Amino acid sequence: MDPMTDEASQDQAETQSDESDGAPEGGPGRLDPTDWTDFRNQAHQVVDELINRFQEADQGPVWRPIPDQVQENLQSGLPRDAQPLEDVLDEVREDILPYTLGNTHPRFFGWVHGSGTPTGALAEFLAGAMNANTGGRHHAPILVEEQVVGWVRELFGFPDEATGMVVSGTSMATIVGLATARRRTTRGRDRTLGLAHPEGGGQGLVGYATADGHQSIKDAFSLLGLGADALRPVAMLEDGSMDPEALDAAIRRDLDAGLTPFAVVATAGSVTCGAVDDLTRIREVTRQHGLWMHVDGAFGAALKLAPTLAHRLEGIQEADSLAFDFHKWFHVPYEAGFILIRDGALHRATFGGRADYLTSLDEGPAAGDTWPCDLGPELSRGFRAFKVWFTLQHLGANAIGQAVETNCRQARSLARLVRDEAELELLAPADLNIVCFRFHPRVDSDDPLATPLSQDELNELNREVLLELHRRGIAVPSPIRRGDAFGLRVCLCNHRTTGKDLELMVDAVLELGRSLMPVG
Ligand SMILES: *Cc1c(COP(=O)(O)O)cnc(C)c1O
Repeated sequence: MDPMTDEASQDQAETQSDESDGAPEGGPGRLDPTDWTDFRNQAHQVVDELINRFQEADQGPVWRPIPDQVQENLQSGLPRDAQPLEDVLDEVREDILPYTLGNTHPRFFGWVHGSGTPTGALAEFLAGAMNANTGGRHHAPILVEEQVVGWVRELFGFPDEATGMVVSGTSMATIVGLATARRRTTRGRDRTLGLAHPEGGGQGLVGYATADGHQSIKDAFSLLGLGADALRPVAMLEDGSMDPEALDAAIRRDLDAGLTPFAVVATAGSVTCGAVDDLTRIREVTRQHGLWMHVDGAFGAALKLAPTLAHRLEGIQEADSLAFDFHKWFHVPYEAGFILIRDGALHRATFGGRADYLTSLDEGPAAGDTWPCDLGPELSRGFRAFKVWFTLQHLGANAIGQAVETNCRQARSLARLVRDEAELELLAPADLNIVCFRFHPRVDSDDPLATPLSQDELNELNREVLLELHRRGIAVPSPIRRGDAFGLRVCLCNHRTTGKDLELMVDAVLELGRSLMPVG
């Protein structure tokens, strides 16, 4: 112990006893616990409860309706006064923990949600205790993020000059990637003059994705001042992937019309049906026209970890920018996305340039060449990279890849189950981890009383089946529209799901479908 400490603290205690001169230990203004033993005991108990929650993740309903009283409790006003920790924890236990979405449960199949791990939860606690701000400066958390960037580069076969960072999610990653693409075309005038300026370089900029491309791509176009209409929908092949010939034709049409095509957003794993675009072919087309290729690999990028599926991402190593999520198929706790950009110098030029108060020094805490704040729009940033680092260190990339393999195998067997079942119908191609289907009893033509259900009746029936699955907490697929048809979408992005969970869901759909069939 530092010999100064005792004396110094004595001095401090003396000063603090004078109320006009500062707060006494644990007094007004100091926010640490007054009773450390009590805090420690209660915190330990919470850790135990949370570990139990993971251990018993398959128990109970996937989701529960939130009682009125709970909703009311969660609307009370700003607490001005302190409350015992125990009371706050009790409210957490009673009003919050039982009513989470359910994506840690093995029968959660909705949207694209990661299912989390105890490892990741522990990392979040550690990160919270470090309270690191990774906007920049010289400290180990910055080195940890750099290490994660190196791992991502290695995994996707990007060159050493590529730069990247952990961001909130693929939506933000796509904004950063496309902002860099925009700068490349406007040669930076977008940043100084603004796109609206006649010489800002923003006139007629257009980009491309399929109609199944994620909503966040359109949002990025609008946020970047390009306008959502500047994102041209490219026709898809039967499997839901981008048609490279149609892309080429669309670019030529726009060039002929005097527009300025600048970027193509390819998708590796579409939300509707898990389609993976032919990245090699799309790269050829973008090269031919000098366009930026951004890859949205939000969940599909995780295929790279799966030995028998990694080849599906062939060509990803040639992307100009790659956006993906650690919080989906890597199961790192929310939130953690990633943006990787091949041309690091261009990336820095897009976001770099620091104010006087952010000047670096040669050494000490203010050291550092490129800070994460030079690579994106955020200055203060949490230590999101830590839970990524910790999860990969503890579980290893191979285990995550195995979970991806298992999910794809499960999707194939679920699709087979649906195909073989006369009362069920597949609504979309299912070759990755997503199965869209509906309850659709076929009419026995020998039965003179049998009448086929209309599309509206089928939609209503399936909506009710899905709602019952949700209300009863049996399973949580999400709703999907395919053309005029309403169906159930099962996204296998869950390392806790077993074959039994899928059978249980299918049985429940059949039973509910039959019992909810309109009579007559
Ligand atoms: C989830 C998802 C996104 C958006 O990612 P966020 O992490 O939610 O911001 C984009 N594209 C695809 C294909 C997705 O699945």
